[in-house]
This record gives sequence, structure tokens and C-alpha cells, in this order.
Amino acid sequence: NYMGLNEIREKYLSFFESKGHLRLPSFSLVPQNDKSLLLINAGMAPLKPYFTGQEVPPRKRVTTCQKCIRTGDIERVGKTARHGTFFEMLGNFSFGDYFKEEATAWAWEFATEVLKLPKDRLYVSIYEEDDEAFEIWTKKVGVPADRIYRMGKEDNFWEIGQGPCGPCSELYFDRGEDKGCGKPDCKVGCDCDRFIEFWNLVFTQFNKEEDGTYSRLENPNIDTGMGLERIATIMQGVDSIFEVDTIKAILDKVCEVANYKYNTDEAKDVSVRVITDHIRSVTFMVSDGILPSNEGRGYVLRRLLRRAARHGKLLGINKAFLYNICDVVIENSKTAYPELEEKRDFIKKVIKLEEERFDETIDQGLSILNQYIEELKAQNKNVLDGESAFKLYDTYGFPIELTIEILDEHNIKVDMQGFEKEMEAQKERARSAREETNYMGTDIDIYATLPAELTTEFVGYTSTEGNGEV
Ligand code: ATP
Ligand code: MG
Ligand code: MG
Ligand code: MG
Repeated sequence: NYMGLNEIREKYLSFFESKGHLRLPSFSLVPQNDKSLLLINAGMAPLKPYFTGQEVPPRKRVTTCQKCIRTGDIERVGKTARHGTFFEMLGNFSFGDYFKEEATAWAWEFATEVLKLPKDRLYVSIYEEDDEAFEIWTKKVGVPADRIYRMGKEDNFWEIGQGPCGPCSELYFDRGEDKGCGKPDCKVGCDCDRFIEFWNLVFTQFNKEEDGTYSRLENPNIDTGMGLERIATIMQGVDSIFEVDTIKAILDKVCEVANYKYNTDEAKDVSVRVITDHIRSVTFMVSDGILPSNEGRGYVLRRLLRRAARHGKLLGINKAFLYNICDVVIENSKTAYPELEEKRDFIKKVIKLEEERFDETIDQGLSILNQYIEELKAQNKNVLDGESAFKLYDTYGFPIELTIEILDEHNIKVDMQGFEKEMEAQKERARSAREETNYMGTDIDIYATLPAELTTEFVGYTSTEGNGEV
């Protein structure tokens, strides 16, 4: 029962249209009027004003496919089968309209009747105290009780500080023993890739009060999120999200440029997957008007792009290449995201500029970093001083996270206090001598040559806020 990723997206949205939902296009990756978030990380995030009642939704039932970025998952990318920094989240939402029963029944209907997933490979998790959900799953939907797992707050209760919150229920698919860790106690909830979580149904039924107590909401909401890449992985029976049709096309291109045969070297496979993921993030971020910078969203973009470039080096690629790979991203996603095609030239130009700038210094930076590693090892030390880490950042354009990551491969840490001190000192110097530019501080001049209308949503320079998620 093969389905392409683009086909699954359409099936989902039209299914929920048939259940009375209004289909809205994906919102920008840049949050609007939301200082708590650096980048949109879930389908519900741009809809928050409808959930809180701040704004009136165009309809009480809405369905979307939302582009998302979670840099919090960056270290898992390429290592697990199921995490990307970029992914698309399908969702159906109820703003005080239908609730648990419909949300649950429709999720099951879509999974088993539209996607035709075999019932004997599906599992469900619920919040341990949510007996109502247990009743619905067993009595109304007909899922055997032994396929339902009760889980604690960390996994199955959604809340952020005060305000609307509630239990959730998740759908899992058993991909079979050969995809798992093989441990005897491996079951739903195991961190390996056998039982893969693909859909989260959030039942927003409480309000968390100031004193920490929960009161019942008069009009409870529904917020669901299904990872499109994950469900496509399941539908296509492939090993990971990187082998899903539209993403495999990117992966193949990376392998072609690197002249490398996928699945022949585990470390190189990780690099291929990292590049494949990061170029998706980068392409979509630029299409939403984000430009590389040293702060906020722009820094996230820079970090992803430079991390991808470094993995390119690990594959032996010795020229700027990402700006060409983004064509494959655009080709495969442009029907759902027409802005990609509209901004193709702009996206390529931004990526190329940033890539070429880093390309000027990356080789030198890597060889200096290797020198540091040799020296530290010879001296039996395992901490790099802040001054050296700062030099890599300032002179060679190494995002500190990249330095940390490379050193970590050798069990070496960075003296972060020392690094921050250097950073402060540099900011101080910059304040007193504005005209003096350094390698990392010249963005404004370079990107000023790009047409302004293409960067309208760009708010990177001033934004420093954010939460742990991104
Ligand atoms: P996991 O436990 O696997 O990290 P999650 O519980 O953090 O996932 P949710 O916050 O519940 O994920 O998001 C809803 C859905 O979005 C998930 O069920 C999954 O299908 C998808 N999803 C979440 N994070 C990612 C990611 N990094 N890459 C791809 N899909 C993701
Ligand atoms: Mg997660
Ligand atoms: Mg989870
Ligand atoms: Mg989840």
C-alpha cells in the first residue's frame, strides 16, 4: 500500500476537510507576535491565539500541514531513524468544538481505513490517569486493552507553565524486531526505532491555575500532530525518514556529489543524513526570509548550514555544494510550498554566499582545531581554553556548537566561561569601535545587496529571545 509523501499529505488534509475542517496553508517558520518561540516547532504553535481565545478562528475546525524546526533534536539527527531538525507536522484542531471521542475515532479511521495500517501493528499510549481515553479507545474504537500503555506526565501530559493544558494519547507503529534495539524489555516507549511514535493527540481540557491546581476548561480543545516524514517512513516500509521518496532524492544527490555509495560506511551515512536534513531546514528558513547572522534565528540558520558544510568535508567534498542540493529540496516540496519555487534564485544566492564565506576559512579552521586536539592529547588534557575556541569562532567562523561537537568526538570539552568572557570582551570592543568589522560581523553589508522585498519577514538581527526547545 505504497504512498508518496506528497500524496499522504493530501490524503490527510482532505480527510479532515471531509470531517468539516478548514484547510489552512502552513504558516511561516517565523513566529508572529510570539516572543516565547524562536522558530515554529509544532502545528499548534502558530494557532495559539485561537486556543487561548485571544483571536477568533476562521472556523472551529482547522487542519494544516505545518513546516517545523526543532533544533533541540539536532544531536539525534542522522543517528535515529525518526528525527530531523526540519519536518512537516500534519494536524487537526478543534477550538472548543469536538473533543476526545471524535479526535480519537478519526485518528483511528485515518490510520486504519485511509492509510490501511494493519491493526495488529498499532499501539496506543495514554496518560496514566486518563481513564476516559482508555474507555474511548477500548469501547468506542475497539482497541484491545493490552495494546494500550499508560504513561506518565513526561510523555503524555502537555503543559507549558500556566494556562490550557491536558493529557495526550499517542499512536505507535511496530516496525518489527529487526528495526529495534533487540533488548528483551523493548516495548512501546523504548527509545529505539522499533515502536515508532507517529501521532500525538493532545486533549486540552484543563487550565493550570496560578496555585498549580487544574480546573476543567468549559470548552476543551483538540490539538493533534502527526509527523509526515514518520508516517511516510511507515507507509513506504523504509529504514528511516531519509529514505522516504522525496527525501531520498536529496540524499541521493548528496551521495552523488560526494561520489559515495550509501550504506557502505556507517560514519559517512550519518554525515549524508545530517546534510540531507540540514539542507531542508536551511532551504525552508531562507524561503521564509531568515538570513544568516550571529543572533536569533539567523544564528540557527548559520549553525545548520555550517554544520552541514563540515559534514560535507567529512565526505571529502571540497567545494561549495549545498546551494545546488537545495534545488532538489525545492523540486520535491514546491507543490505544497510554492514560496520555494518563487524564491528559488534568492534561496540559492543566500546559501551560496554563506557557504562560500565559510569555505574560505573552514579548512584552515579544521586544521587548527586538529592541532589543538593533538596538543591537548599530548598534554593529557581534556579542556580547550576559551581563547582558542573564540579564535575559531571569530576568525574562522566556527559556531561554538560546532567546535564543541567536534571536540566531543575526542572527549574534549570547551571552557565555556572563558569563551563567554572573550565574547563579552569582543562585544565591548565592537561597541567602542563600530567601524571595525570582523569576519562574522559583516552580514549586513553582504545581504544588503539582495532585493529587500524577498527578506520582508526577516527579523533575525534584533531577536535574541527564545526557549530551550530551539
Ligand atoms: P519523539 O518522542 O519521537 O522525539 P515527540 O514526542 O517529541 O517525538 P511531539 O512533540 O509529540 O513529538 O510531536 C508530534 C509528532 O511530530 C510526533 O509524534 C512525530 O510524528 C513528529 N515529530 C516530532 N519531532 C520530530 C522530529 N524531530 N522529526 C520528525 N518528526 C518529528
Ligand atoms: Mg521529541
Ligand atoms: Mg515522544
Ligand atoms: Mg509526542
